[in-house]
Parts: sequence; structure tokens; C-alpha cells
Amino acid sequence: MVSGATIRRNFRRTRVTTACAVCLFALAAIFISAEWWRQRAEQQLENKAAETLAVQAEALSGILDKYRLLPPLLSREKSVVALFDDMGADTSDAARQKAIEIAGMSGAKEVAFLYPDGRVLATAGGLFSENAEEHRKLLEAVRQGRLGRQAISLDSEQRAYAFAFGVRKDSKLIGAIAVYVDFDPVEATWSLSTNPIFVTDQTGTVFLTNRPLWRLRPLSDLMADAAAPDHYLVGGNVLHSDLTRHLPLLDWQLHVLSDERPLVTAAWIGGIIAGLVSLLFGAVAFIVVQRREAQLLRMRRDRASALRLERLVRERTKALSETNISLSREIDERRLTEEQLRKTQAELVQATKLAALGQMSAALSHEFNQPLAAIRTYSDNAHRFLERGKTDNVSDNLTRISGLVDRMARLSRSLLSFSRKPGTAIKPVPLAPVLDEALMLVRPRAKKAGVALETEIHGGPYYVLGGQIRLSQVFVNLINNAVDALAGQENGKVLITVGAQGDGVIVRVEDNGPGIPEDQRGSVFEPFFTTKDVGAGIGIGLSIASSIVRDFGGTIELEEAAGGGACFSVCLRAADASDIAAE
Ligand code: ADP
Repeated sequence: MVSGATIRRNFRRTRVTTACAVCLFALAAIFISAEWWRQRAEQQLENKAAETLAVQAEALSGILDKYRLLPPLLSREKSVVALFDDMGADTSDAARQKAIEIAGMSGAKEVAFLYPDGRVLATAGGLFSENAEEHRKLLEAVRQGRLGRQAISLDSEQRAYAFAFGVRKDSKLIGAIAVYVDFDPVEATWSLSTNPIFVTDQTGTVFLTNRPLWRLRPLSDLMADAAAPDHYLVGGNVLHSDLTRHLPLLDWQLHVLSDERPLVTAAWIGGIIAGLVSLLFGAVAFIVVQRREAQLLRMRRDRASALRLERLVRERTKALSETNISLSREIDERRLTEEQLRKTQAELVQATKLAALGQMSAALSHEFNQPLAAIRTYSDNAHRFLERGKTDNVSDNLTRISGLVDRMARLSRSLLSFSRKPGTAIKPVPLAPVLDEALMLVRPRAKKAGVALETEIHGGPYYVLGGQIRLSQVFVNLINNAVDALAGQENGKVLITVGAQGDGVIVRVEDNGPGIPEDQRGSVFEPFFTTKDVGAGIGIGLSIASSIVRDFGGTIELEEAAGGGACFSVCLRAADASDIAAE
């Protein structure tokens, strides 16, 4: 798996590459965009200037056209001809009046009546009367029968365009009429435009302009002058040569200039927009790279933790299976130990039982000896009665013998059954035969000790869960202990009561002996607790009885006896009679 450091190093390289690519892209984009914007602005400027140029050229031509026709028309008028025809008479006043009238009607700047030799007959305002040189040029054309035309500028900065036409009588030139066109309204219109507009004449002198400082200056001069604050022909402004129009009527050039600063601004805007877009693009690229890196790192982390988890699971599984093996080994060992323990316990039970038998053996042998002696006596008597021929008595004796043998056989069967090794099964057992057997075994000993055995059975028949031999061992042990406790006591009595208690069956073995002292009550069920003399008891009887009853799912408890002695109550689980039938 690729390490996190390698991923980071790779992405560092990717970031550097991306940054370089974005920078290059940004530079190219800024350059292209700035140029595009500049060209677009330039196009707009040119369009606007071209529009201005067309409009102004038309306006100028219109004005000049209007005045161009005025002198030829006036020259044919009789009243005008009369002004020059009336030789000798002073018509100057009339001429001035006429000039004022024409000027007033046409809106011309000046109207002048001139003699062919250049003298002035009259003018409307007297503006150009002094300028003989200008008149000379005009009259030269007039003499040739053409429309004289001349741009006139005075020192007083007065400028005008003059149209002149000859006044003839009988084809003889007798005078001339000159109309001077005023350009002030044109310039006033131009002054509304932000673009510098100007007209240069044949000599390259600025004749009309909306920039007063440029007026009557040579064009070359203007382009060289960088100091004037209102100077637009140098520095930030260019003269677009294609935005120049020739006015053929006057042989003038009309120029419209554009301010170049908007081009720079447009280029800046274009550059900034491209720069911002590039920045955005760069940011997006950076974010994408960053996210991809985070994603790869996260995937790597997830994979690493998955592997870690897998390894952990593997280790845990291994540890678990090892523990499992050791546990099952331990279980096997325990099972073995348990089996051994059970075996030992069974042997101990058997040993205890045999010990009890041993304890009872003297009384039991007496129980056998007594009928044996009686049988002897009865058989001797039977012999004698047989010799005497008293067959009736023989039969009676034989019946008695038979009864005694039955009794001995029953006791012997009980002894045999009791001494057999018990099984381990727990099954439904009828309680009455168990108690009968136990009583049969302990009775000889009780009788010998002078202890009365009494039973009280309430209800029944009872069936309990357990094993017959083991149960009878419990009761034998309890009754034997009671008989032991009552040894040497007058009116010693052991009472065995049987009854139902709840779901179970309770058997109480109660005596009227000395009872068990308070301080020993907690210890009587402990193994090897005994108060008996050495050889009389080893102290495991109650402990074995308790463990047998516990195996059967019951309890054995020490209670307070009504007569002051000891009372052991054995509570056993009841079994169904139907279960017995099944057994
Ligand atoms: P052992 O009979 O060998 O002493 P047990 O476990 O049967 O062992 O009894 C333990 C002790 O409990 C006896 O030594 C005796 O002191 C006391 N004990 C048992 N039953 C009685 C009883 N009915 N009356 C008085 N003491 C008893």
C-alpha cells in the first residue's frame, strides 16, 4: 500500500505543476483578453468617431453649400447691378444697406460689394474691408468668371469662408459680391463632442476646431507640442489617419480624434477579468487537487484501519482458538477429575454404608442368631414329636420354622440390597418400601439400645425422585445417629414422620435425645465433624447424606425438635405415579 507521505509528496508535485499551468494559462488569458478588449474598444471608438466624422462632414458641407449659391444668385439681381452701374453717383450707403439686408436675411457673417480693382464699395459690418490681399485672390477667380472661394482668417482670430461672384453688365465685370460664411455655429456644435474635431486646409493649418488652443496652428506643430494640458494629439491620444475625410468642395481635411485612454482602460478590464477567471480556475483546480488528495488519504486511512482490524481479528481469533483448545483441555481434565471425584464419592458412600452395616452388624447377627436358636429348638421338638407320633405338633413346629426362615430371608434380602453398590440414576422411587427397608435394618440395633421407633405417615403413597439404595442409606444414617444420641437414655424414641410439603415430600427424623448444641449446629453437615469417640464415628455420615439428597434435587436441614432433641428434615422432589408405571 502507498504510504501517506508518498501521497502527500505526489500531490505537492501535482500542486506545483497545477500552479505553473494556471500561471501560464493566466498570462496567456490576460494577454489575449486584454488585446481582445482593447480591439473591441478601439472598434467602438472608431465607429463612434466615424459616425461623428460623417455627421460633421455633412453639416459643414451643408452650411457651405447653402452660402455657395448665394453670390451667383445675388449678382443677377437688378438692384445689386444698379449699385455698380450708377457711375459717378455715391451708392455706398445704398450698398451698405443692401449688404446689411442680405447678411441679415442669409445669416452670413459678412457681405461685401467690391469693385473689380479691389476697392470696397460697401460692407455689412466692415469686418474684412482692410484685407486687400484676400480680396485680390477672390477677385482673380471672379475675373475668370468662376466662383471665388477663399478661407479668410484675421489677426483678430476672426475666420470666415468667402464665396465671391462677379456682377456683370453686358458681360462686362463691373463689380463683385462676396459672402462670408461664419463658422462659429459649426464650432459651437463641435464643442459638444468629447472627441477633438478639426479641419485643416491645404497648407495643413488647423482652421476650424472644437479645441480653441489649436486654432490656426499647423498640424505638425500640434503633434510635436506635448506640454499643453489640453493637448490631445500626443501622449495618450492618437490621430487616426483613417478617420480623416477630405471635403472636396473646399479641399479641406476633416479630422476626428479619439481618446486612447478608454483603450487602455478596456485592456485593463479585459486583463483583470481574465486574471480573475484564471484565479477562479486556479482556485477550483487547487480545491479539486486538495479534495482528491484528502480522498486518497482517507481511502488509505480506511484501508489501513481495515487491515489493522483484520490483523486484530486474526490475532484475536488465533488467541481465542488457543484459549478454546486450552479450555477444552481443561474441561477434559475437569471431567476426568469430576469422574474420579464421583468415583471416589461413590466409594466413600459405599464405605460409609459398609461402616453403618458394621455398626449394625452386632445387632443384626443377634437378629439372625435368635431365630436360628429358635429354629434349632423347633426342629429338636419336631424330631421328638415325630418319634412319639404326634404329627400335629410336628406340623405346627415346621410352620413356625418356616415363618422364622421367611423373616430371616427378608432381613437378608434387605441387607443384600443395602450393601449393593448403588447406581447413579435418579428416577421415581416409592417412598414406603425405602423407609421399611431402612427400619428393618436399624430396628435390631434400636431394640438393643432400648430405643422405640415410631412412624407417622400422613397421606400418600408418596413417590420421590432419587435412587432406592442411596435414599435408604440416608434414612439409615439419620436413624442410627438418633439411636446413638439416645444411647443409655430412658424412654428413648425416634419418630419418623412423612408428609407432603408444597411440591415435594418431607421426611422428618426426630428424637427426644440431648439435641445438638447451638455452636455445633453449623458444623454437623461438614465432613469429618464428629462428637463420637474414636472408632465410633468418623463424621462423614451427615455430609454424605446431605450430598446424596442434594444430588436428588432436595434439601436436608436441621430443625428444632418439639421434644428438645434433634430433628433432621429431608425434603425430596415428588414424582408422578404415572412415571413409576413408566419405569
Ligand atoms: P458420626 O455419626 O460418624 O459422628 P455424622 O456425620 O453422622 O458422623 O454425625 C456428626 C455428628 O452430629 C455426630 O458426631 C453427633 O455429634 C451429631 N449428631 C448427629 N445426629 C445427632 C442426633 N440425632 N442427636 C445429637 N447429635 C447428633
